Order: sequence, then C-alpha cells, then structure tokens
Amino acid sequence: MNVHDSEKIAGILSQLGYVSCQNTEEADVIVFNTCCIRESAERKAIGNIGSLKNLKKNNPDVIIAVCGCMTQAGETAQKLKEKFPFIDIIFGTHNLHCFKDYIIKRKQYGKKLIEIWPEPSKTFDNISILRNQKISAFVNIIYGCNNFCSTALFRM
Ligand code: SF4
Repeated sequence: MNVHDSEKIAGILSQLGYVSCQNTEEADVIVFNTCCIRESAERKAIGNIGSLKNLKKNNPDVIIAVCGCMTQAGETAQKLKEKFPFIDIIFGTHNLHCFKDYIIKRKQYGKKLIEIWPEPSKTFDNISILRNQKISAFVNIIYGCNNFCSTALFRM
C-alpha cells in the first residue's frame, strides 16, 4: 500500500546516492512505510520492525526509519520509539519531504530523530520520485486515507 509515497522515499534516497538492494543484511538504510487501515497491517509492520533488533545490534550503522500512516496517527510514533529504541528516524506522512534532511542529520550527528507534523506541508510535491514504471505513474488526488492510499494509476 501507499506505493506513491514509497516512490518519493526511493527518490530521496536515490538523490543521496543510495540504490535498492535485495536483503536487509546488505542495506545501509531500511525504511518501513506503514499503513494503519487494518490491524493486520499494523501487526505485520510491528513484527517486521521488531525482527531487525539483532541486525541493528550487529550493524549499528544501518539506519532504520519508520514512516507512513501508522506513525502519523495518534501516539503511535512515541509508542514505537519506546518499544523499539533502535529505530533511528520516525516521521509522518506530512513531513515525508524532510526525510533527506533526517538522513543527513542522522549520518552527521548520529542523532535519533522523531518528528511528526500535525498538518501537511505545502511544498510536499517538490520532491524527487523514483518510479519503476516507464509509461504509467501514481499521482495524488487528495491527501489522507480514503482506503485507497489517495492515489490513482494513470496511463497514456
Ligand atoms: S492512506 Fe489509508 S490505505 Fe493508504 S497507507 Fe495510509 S492508512 Fe493505509
């Protein structure tokens, strides 16, 4: 779910010189773009985040980030921070465009970051997007959950 935001995250990481890889052991950055429309989706995300505890212990340099609708909602970000202190960066859907700065700050200062904006940014659409498809693309219709990730697929 939320493929379009994941394309933006991939675009930001690409700008910073990262390329995608096949497994967590070779990754320098791991991003969980979460969904909270169903409890099962939340449970799966929490399970997957928890499974990285040992990886982080063995490789403290790997940056683990959690974002998306789950972190944007209520007190979830704070709860995740307490439950998984090894998470490096937690941000919401409204400040996704700041992810580049968060990665740079984490690398420069080794500081953990948790930042959730209550309102969307007006500059949200100015960020790079890394798309897998050549002739189709996700575009935003609205922001906020309407059960379809607020996106539609277009083709010419
Ligand atoms: S907009 Fe709704 S369906 Fe899409 S990722 Fe967020 S919670 Fe899930």
